[in-house]
This record gives sequence, C-alpha cells and structure tokens, in this order.
Amino acid sequence: MALLPFYIPGKRRTNVIIVGGGYAGMTVLTTLKQYASNVDITLIDPNTHHLKITHLHETFRYPLSDLRVPFSELEKRFGCRHIQASLTINDAMLRQWQSDKYLAIGNEILHFDYLVIATGGEMPEPEPAANVLTLQDFMRTAGSPLLLSHLETVAVEEPVISVVGAGATGIQFLFEIRQFLCRQKISARLRLINAGDHVLTQFPRGFDSYVQSRMQEFKIDCMPNTQYHGQTDQKILLEDKQSGKADTLPSHLTLLFLGKKQEHIWPANTFGQITIDQKILPHIFIAGDCSIYNALGSNVQSAQSAVRKGKLIARNILRHSGLLKILEPYLHHDIGYVVNLGPTDAVGWLVTQGNIVTGLPALAIKEIVEAQYDLLLMGIDTYVI
Ligand SMILES: Cc1cc2nc3c(=O)[nH]c(=O)nc-3n(C[C@H](O)[C@H](O)[C@H](O)COP(=O)(O)OP(=O)(O)OC[C@H]3O[C@@H](n4cnc5c(N)ncnc54)[C@H](O)[C@@H]3O)c2cc1C
Repeated sequence: MALLPFYIPGKRRTNVIIVGGGYAGMTVLTTLKQYASNVDITLIDPNTHHLKITHLHETFRYPLSDLRVPFSELEKRFGCRHIQASLTINDAMLRQWQSDKYLAIGNEILHFDYLVIATGGEMPEPEPAANVLTLQDFMRTAGSPLLLSHLETVAVEEPVISVVGAGATGIQFLFEIRQFLCRQKISARLRLINAGDHVLTQFPRGFDSYVQSRMQEFKIDCMPNTQYHGQTDQKILLEDKQSGKADTLPSHLTLLFLGKKQEHIWPANTFGQITIDQKILPHIFIAGDCSIYNALGSNVQSAQSAVRKGKLIARNILRHSGLLKILEPYLHHDIGYVVNLGPTDAVGWLVTQGNIVTGLPALAIKEIVEAQYDLLLMGIDTYVI
C-alpha cells in the first residue's frame, strides 16, 4: 500500500459512493484503492462499462469494444460494487445527502461516509432529425458502420457531409472521416461549419493555421462565422453571423459536435468539497467536467484535469477520514493538449502554450498520455503529480 503524507487512518472502515464512472470517477476509485485497504466503494453509473471517450473518433479504425471497460471487470479488479443507475442530483438533494449520509437507489438505502459526484458535463440533446448524428450516436455505434449505413441510403453520386463545431471533438472527427472516406474510396464532399472566426478557439492561435493548411490539403471546405440552425431532409439551415443572411445548402449527413451544456456544474472549494450557497458540504466531493473549483489549478474540461481532480479528492477523502484532517489544495495546471488530425497527424502544445508540436512528435505525446491512463485503469499509477 502506497504511503500518503498527512494520512493517519482511523480504526473503522470508510464507505465511499462514487456517482459517475468516467475519467474522474475511475481515478477516484483507483487512487482510493492505491492508498487504503479499509475503504468500501460503490460506483453508480447508468452504463455497463467505462468508456475511454478520448479515443471515440478512432472508431473509424477500431471497434467500439476496444474503448469499453466493463464495470464487472473493474468490480473484480478493485473489489468494488457497481450499481447500474442514474442519480438525479440537485442542490436540495446534495444538502439532504450531506445531512443524512445516505441516499436511496430504487428500494435500496446506501449509507456513505463520503459521496463523490463525477457525472461529467451534460451534452445538449438536439431535436431528433433525419440525417443528423451526434456524439451520443458514436457512443453507441462505432464510426465506420454508422457512417457507412447512412451513406448507403443516399442516392447521389457525391454526397455532402457537414461537421458542425470546430472544437477539439469536431476537428478530430472531421479528419478521421476524411481519411476513412479515402480508405473506403468513397467520393464525398466534406465541410466544416464553424460559428467562430477560427478553429480550436480554446487553443493557441498556431493550432488554427496548422489545421487550416491541412484542411486545404484534404479539400475540406471551411465555413467560419456560420451559425447552424437545423437540418431538414437533405438540407442544412445556416446563418452568416456577420451579415445575418440565412442560407440553405445540401447536406446528406450532418454531424453535430456542439460542446457541453454549462448546466449541472457545481462549485467546490480548493479541496474539492462542493459548496452550495457558499456553504461547504464537507462529506461531498466533486471532480471532472461537472466541477469548478475555487482554486489556483485548472478548471479546463479535459480528461487531464478530471484525472488530477480525481486524484486530489481521493487523497483528501482519506485525509479527512483520518486523524489529522489536513487537506491538500488543488494546484494542477495542464502541461499540454494534443488534437488528433487523423491516424498520422496531430497538433498540440507541450509545457507552455507557445510550444506547439505537430506530426509524429505530437502523436507520440498523445500515445504516452493515453497509455498512462490505461495503466491507471489497471491499478498502476505512473502520474508524477
Ligand atoms: C471525442 C473526444 C475526445 C477527447 N479528447 C481529449 C483529449 O485528448 N484530452 C483530454 O484531456 N480530454 C479529451 N476529451 C475531454 C474528456 O473526455 C473529458 O473532459 C473527460 O471525459 C471528463 O471526465 P469526467 O469524468 O468529468 O466525465 P465523463 O468521462 O464524461 O464521465 C461521466 C460519467 O458519469 C456518468 N453519469 C452521468 N450522469 C450520471 C448520473 N446522473 N448518475 C450516475 N452516473 C452518471 C456517465 O455515464 C459517465 O460514465 C475528449 C472528449 C471527447 C468527446
């Protein structure tokens, strides 16, 4: 058992419930098990498996099963219990749980010493429409069969595919699709609809120049300053954000990557404990995309931050349950981010945002980061901080 500074365990066992089995939830689970043998963990998640979602765009090359880690396997590996359920969370429930130290799932009452909220960011659920796909569709079916089954129904020689959203997810899907179409020898036009004036706005400006040059090479049309308003049959409804002019263009398949909603995100103090109306709930911790810490560390919605917050709150839960109760503040800053541009190219920054890396070196960094997370899921922690 690894040693944790300022943690002197008390005598009795500690009961922890983790709500959400994504990057943050998995990290809390593995970190608790790394430092303590006297912790009983219950994981609540509506799915049957953990999804390594940072690889989702790669399902144009690999089966979706490669990205799924069944919770039943994790139960055996870490000696925890998984309950397949979705918990309704709001401010009133959080206050109630803090005071009761139990929650109800169906007919079962689950007692806890600590509750962890790690439910991720909520994605917008657009009105269902024919010829429109969203991230949720790719979470259920791999990219290659999904795209092929849609294209089979289109009776034109050169169909048009529109990708809406020029954040990291939209761009990663765009380039994977382009190269998938080349491999499959499918003739189709690909266009990017972007509400902003450049792509990947949350990253250094060098990302935009690199991506633009690659889009030209791959003959991907880019429509900046363009608002998506919907899809009807085989047409996409758009608005030019500068002139306000509405437009309709052919689109036989439209893929929406519109980012996450800013709802269901709770504030926390620098130790990761939820605060409701400025009042700390000392036995309820939060991590990942659903949290904003009042701290010096990064609140970016990324797997990196989710993992670092997860590690921190696991350590703080143990310290809080022990004799000293000295907690550690959240100070983590992301040390890089890489965006894939298909199987053989990527653009990213490393150490400082001015240090931009592209091509194979960027791909290698991404591989290392992903391998580190895979090891964590095996119970091997290689993170230095
Ligand atoms: C295609 C793609 C590529 C990405 N690439 C990168 C990357 O390269 N690097 C990077 O740092 N980040 C990347 N990200 C972002 C990263 O995946 C997220 O920031 C990260 O998953 C957040 O982790 P989380 O644990 O907060 O949420 P999630 O991983 O989304 O997990 C949330 C979990 O909570 C469960 N849940 C939700 N609601 C409830 C409920 N009410 N009750 C119980 N359980 C619930 C869900 O089923 C899910 O298992 C990428 C995202 C996508 C979509």
